[in-house]
Amino acid sequence: ATADAPSSGRERVQVVVRCRPMSHRELVARRRSCVKVFTRQHRIEVRGPGRRGPIDTGVRVFEFDRVYDSKCSQQQLYQEVAHPVVESVMHGYNGTVLAYGQTASGKTYTMEGFDDQPEYRGIIPSAFQDIFSYIARNQSSTRFLVRASFLEIYNEEIRDLLVPGSSAASTKLELIESADVGIFVKNLTCRRMYSLSDILHLLMVGKKNRSVGATLMNQDSSRSHSIFTVTVEASYVAENDPGKRLHVRVGKLHLVDLAGSERMSKAGAKGKRFRELTNINWSLMALGNVISALADGKSTHIPYRDSKLTRLLQDSLGGNAKTVMVANIGPSEHNYEETVSTLRYANRAR
Ligand code: ADP
Ligand code: MG
Repeated sequence: ATADAPSSGRERVQVVVRCRPMSHRELVARRRSCVKVFTRQHRIEVRGPGRRGPIDTGVRVFEFDRVYDSKCSQQQLYQEVAHPVVESVMHGYNGTVLAYGQTASGKTYTMEGFDDQPEYRGIIPSAFQDIFSYIARNQSSTRFLVRASFLEIYNEEIRDLLVPGSSAASTKLELIESADVGIFVKNLTCRRMYSLSDILHLLMVGKKNRSVGATLMNQDSSRSHSIFTVTVEASYVAENDPGKRLHVRVGKLHLVDLAGSERMSKAGAKGKRFRELTNINWSLMALGNVISALADGKSTHIPYRDSKLTRLLQDSLGGNAKTVMVANIGPSEHNYEETVSTLRYANRAR
C-alpha cells in the first residue's frame, strides 16, 4: 500500500451551516426553536433546554465561514457556496460539495431540491446548468467532454446507481489505486453527457435505481452516502502558443449527499442496523478527521485511507481542490443534541 498523500494545505475547506425552517409537523407539535442564526456575524447560537442533571446546557456559540437561515433561497446558496467550486472545476481543478447532517435536516433539499420548479432546484441540478452554460459560452475556443457517474456507499460497499438496483452488476464495486490513474472504481458506469437534459435524466435514473435497490434489499437510503461525479475535460489551443499545440485540462466535481449523522444511542439500533450505523459513524468520523487534518495545515499525513468515502474523494479533498461542506440543521429544540453534535463536527472541520 502507498502512503497517505502529504497535505499541501493550499485550499482550505469551507464550512457553511444552513438551518431549515420548522417543518409542518414541528409547527403542529408547537416545537420551540433553539437555534438563532446571525447571518452577518457568521454565528449560530443554540440554546439548551436548561439544566439537565449535572450538565448545564446553556447557550452554545459557533462560528463558520458562512451561515444561512430558513430564508436563504436555493439560488443564493448555490451562488455563494457551490458556484465557486464549479467554476474552478471548469478551469481544470477538482472540487467537492458535501451535505452533512442528521436525517431530515435538509441534505437532499440542499443537494437536489425539487427539479420540477427552477426556484427550488438544489446544488446538483444548478451545477449541471452552470456547467453546460459555461460550455455554451466557451464553445468557440474550446472542446468539452463531460462524463458522469453516480454511486452510493452503503455499509462500506460501493454500488453503481446507473445500473438497475436488482442487477448483480450494481453491487460491490472495487476501489482500485494505480500509479498512473490514481484512485478509481473498477467497472463503474461512466456516461458521456451532451446536454443539460442528458445529465438531469441520468440523475433521475440513478435516484430511481437507488430507491428500487434499497426497497429490494430492505434498506434505508438515508443510511448510504451518494456521490454524483462529473468530469469535465477541456481541450483548446492556447492563444499565445506559437506551436498551436492542443492543451487539455481536466476537472472533476463530486457532489455528495452524506448518510444521516444521527448517533447510535438515539436510534436504539440492534443487529443489521447497528452494523450500518457503525459503518456510517466510522466513515463520517474518517471524513471529519481528513477535513480537520487539512484545516490544521500542519499535519504531514492526511488519513484518507480510513474509509471508502475518503479514499474515493482523496484527489478532490485538499491540495488544489476546492471543498465546501454544507452542514444542515433543523431549528427545533427536540433536535437539540443532534444539532449541537452537527455544529461541533462542522466546527472541527474548519
Ligand atoms: P435529509 O436529506 O437531510 O434527510 P431532506 O432534504 O429530505 O432531509 O429534508 C427533510 C424535509 O424538510 C423535506 O420535506 C424537505 O423538503 C424539507 N426542507 C429541508 N430543508 C428545507 C429548506 N431549506 N426549506 C424548505 N424546506 C426544507
Ligand atoms: Mg436525504
